[in-house]
Amino acid sequence: SLTDRLTNAFKHLRSKGKLSETDIDSTIREIRRALLDADVALPVVRSFTSQVRERCLSTEVSDSLNPAQQVVSIVNDELTAILGQGVDRPLNFAKNPPTVIMLAGLQGAGKTTLAGKLGYWLKQAGHTPLLVAADLQRPNAVTQLKVVGERAGIPVFAPQAGVTSSDETAEDATVVTPGATHGDPVAVARQSLEFARQKLYDMVIIDTAGRLGVDEELMAQARDIRDAVQPQEILFVIDAMIGQDAVQTAQAFNQGVNFTGVVLTKLDGDARGGAALSVASVTNKPILFDSTGEGLTDFEVFHPDRMAGRILDQGDILTLIEQAQKQFDEQQARESAEKLSEGTFGLDDFIEQLEQVRKLGPMKNLLAMIPGMAQYRNQIDNLDEKTIDRSEAIIRAMTPAERRDTSIIDGSRRARIAKGSGVSVSEVNGLIQRFEMAAKMMKRVANGATSIPGVRPIP
Ligand code: GDP
Ligand code: MG
Repeated sequence: SLTDRLTNAFKHLRSKGKLSETDIDSTIREIRRALLDADVALPVVRSFTSQVRERCLSTEVSDSLNPAQQVVSIVNDELTAILGQGVDRPLNFAKNPPTVIMLAGLQGAGKTTLAGKLGYWLKQAGHTPLLVAADLQRPNAVTQLKVVGERAGIPVFAPQAGVTSSDETAEDATVVTPGATHGDPVAVARQSLEFARQKLYDMVIIDTAGRLGVDEELMAQARDIRDAVQPQEILFVIDAMIGQDAVQTAQAFNQGVNFTGVVLTKLDGDARGGAALSVASVTNKPILFDSTGEGLTDFEVFHPDRMAGRILDQGDILTLIEQAQKQFDEQQARESAEKLSEGTFGLDDFIEQLEQVRKLGPMKNLLAMIPGMAQYRNQIDNLDEKTIDRSEAIIRAMTPAERRDTSIIDGSRRARIAKGSGVSVSEVNGLIQRFEMAAKMMKRVANGATSIPGVRPIP
């Protein structure tokens, strides 16, 4: 798998302190092979690896104490960049409602299921959506959309052909339209717009027919529907498991209907994300949503960083970071352990530790790589690096003697430190107090207590 390949590629780096050009190139070869194995399209792989290589060659990595972690974060960044084009682009809305969203894609891609999810999502946001059955190709397509509509509590505009019995007229979720033309998806789509205007539905989601493979007749029909309803969004729905075919299919639909955005489905399966990378890169169209199951709420706004993490497999990244960190931490940790048990661990040691942590990169980036952290994205983004900077400034304003033994810091020293670091005296007091408490606790632990949560055992 891609993850295995990348992990192998990175394993090689773990044992090295610095990267040479040869190191980088052999790693790049591994990454290239890995991406190809994961069904990422060749031109995409080429541009991706050349970008990564360029950045690896920059001093950023070769000067780093921790190249493996740096390479992971570069690969992660570049993946996110490709996946994230147009990210945060909200749906296009019509100036005068209804807004029309047309779904296109191969049969089985998940269009009908998506119609329900998207409708439900829009309804939660206060819209009044209408689903339109413009797939008249398969006998059961209309019935399927009506089931989906009922589950989501959203009306379905369907031609009479799809209405099986009178009991459905009683369902207020289903709109029976005697006037709709049988068998003509273009006419049904056009009529649905008139209907939506009359009944004040503000969003119209049009489900269309797909075939097993790309064919010109299908594409012509999708184009006809498009031209008849002039959608604000044409969403290309693609099964993430489709593999290498993703590029060809995406290109065909891009040329055929010139879609405005992409929805990736079946991300609950074991697709590693090759399709996402290819489609985003080859079509230059944004991925707006993804689907992760058959349920109505298995649907979300697409997050490029999560997808990058998926491609790299977050668990492995974490292991890698931990290992890289361990390498350069060990010596220091051993020294700290001795000082702790002697009770001589001072602020000078603390600031050294702080520096080690910083070498891993901004705290935010580090936190964002931890599996499960994606959901705390906002909190992470708000994390105040400045708080850490201020602590460091305070410690730096102290003399070496003060750092070693905080008990000598009297009132006049506190005032001097506050002035020197540009903070208030109470901030200086706070830092000293917190440190003394922590030091007391650490000493107690080092001298008997077995462990405290959140503190790494020291080798
Ligand atoms: P359409 O032919 O494009 O309309 O595709 P459908 O909506 O009928 O979906 C085809 C099959 O894929 C159905 O069995 C769906 O339940 C299933 N499906 C759709 N989206 C997802 C998804 O995100 N995850 C999983 N596991 N199944 C999905
Ligand atoms: Mg369908």
